[in-house]
Amino acid sequence: MDIHEHQAKDILKGFGVPVPKGFVAYSPEQAAYCARALGGAGPWVVKAQVHSGGRGEAGGVKLCKTDAEVMDYAASLLGTRLVTKQTDAQGKGVYRLYVEEASDIAQELYLGFVLDRKSERIMIVASGHGGMEIEDLAHEDPDSLVRSVIDPAVGLREYQARDLGFRLGLTGPQVTQFVTFLQACYRAYRDLDAMMVEINPLVITGKGDLVALDAKMSFDTNALYRRPQVAALRDPGQEDPREAMAADNGLAYVGLDGDIGCIINGAGLAMASMDMIQLAGGQPANFLDIGGGASPERVCQAFRTVLSDRNVSVILVNIFAGINRCDWIAKGVIRAYTDVGIEIPVVVRLSGTNVEEGRKIIRESGLPIISADTLAEAADRAVAAASQKIAAE
Ligand code: GDP
Ligand code: MN
Repeated sequence: MDIHEHQAKDILKGFGVPVPKGFVAYSPEQAAYCARALGGAGPWVVKAQVHSGGRGEAGGVKLCKTDAEVMDYAASLLGTRLVTKQTDAQGKGVYRLYVEEASDIAQELYLGFVLDRKSERIMIVASGHGGMEIEDLAHEDPDSLVRSVIDPAVGLREYQARDLGFRLGLTGPQVTQFVTFLQACYRAYRDLDAMMVEINPLVITGKGDLVALDAKMSFDTNALYRRPQVAALRDPGQEDPREAMAADNGLAYVGLDGDIGCIINGAGLAMASMDMIQLAGGQPANFLDIGGGASPERVCQAFRTVLSDRNVSVILVNIFAGINRCDWIAKGVIRAYTDVGIEIPVVVRLSGTNVEEGRKIIRESGLPIISADTLAEAADRAVAAASQKIAAE
């Protein structure tokens, strides 16, 4: 789960990371008020709060010299959608801004904490060359990247942080500050079950102080149950509406670009079905795992989620029932016709527990459901139905 920059800064500040002073604003007037409340004569930085990086390049970050300028910029940004290199073509809605006192930048560094799956440990990635996205950095200046893996038994050691500082070319008081900075980020990561902490840029100010100019944090969704203070920071408005709806209903769903909606049980079967769709010449619209022991209600909810995607022109239901029961699945499909309303072709392949009963229910429903016996047949029929639909249009 991602959170906003201002939330990440708030968290990190609590762990001792130096961040610029700032306030969140939801209206142009409030933005101007925040600027005045920050004191001084400006300048201020006004930043779109969206779950994406690359905001600067996309016009979502601006240095403003007067509170009138803050207000104008805020008015031009709020309510719009910001399209960045990291978002899709729809972009993300801008409903809040962060107004900060501007920092005087002498140098920009990159700092990231990620989970290194190979060593199964938290790894620090840093570069003396900040401001750029890490992907571009890895491409354009890979030699500037320094890495260090943290041993969970002892945590991030001071000498380890110091060594990283030296490898980045820091000296004197900056190294001392860097050690404190890193340890604070590490504690935030570890204590809150984060998956990623990224400070880009971490700047050295004209006065020689280290400050987190930007901050990004994302969290392990599976650990949110024990981090209510983090779970509370969720902003569903920033999520793919299809995925948000699925998450609310406890369905594992990932939206994709194709037109064949998939309702499947088990992640492995879902992946295999997506492969078979591709092999048959089609494109899946989503990954969806309805899980085990799915009730008719749950199946119905899966239809609702898949159908909320306007690109879906065919639905493929593929169930290999172990814990599941084919008769319940069949009842769910039929109920979806009345409760959700289905006007597109539906291909159903059932196999496993209570399969005869399930097939009978489908057969006797009188609904225009296309049945298939095997996964390959189901994929072929779904792709054929999708192309027929395109031809008809
Ligand atoms: P991102 O583009 O979404 O990663 O947003 P950032 O918060 O990283 O801001 C983008 C860029 O705006 C930074 O790399 C800086 O160059 C610039 N910027 C942000 N805050 C300040 C500031 O306080 N002072 C100055 N001079 N530039 C800033
Ligand atoms: Mn940034």
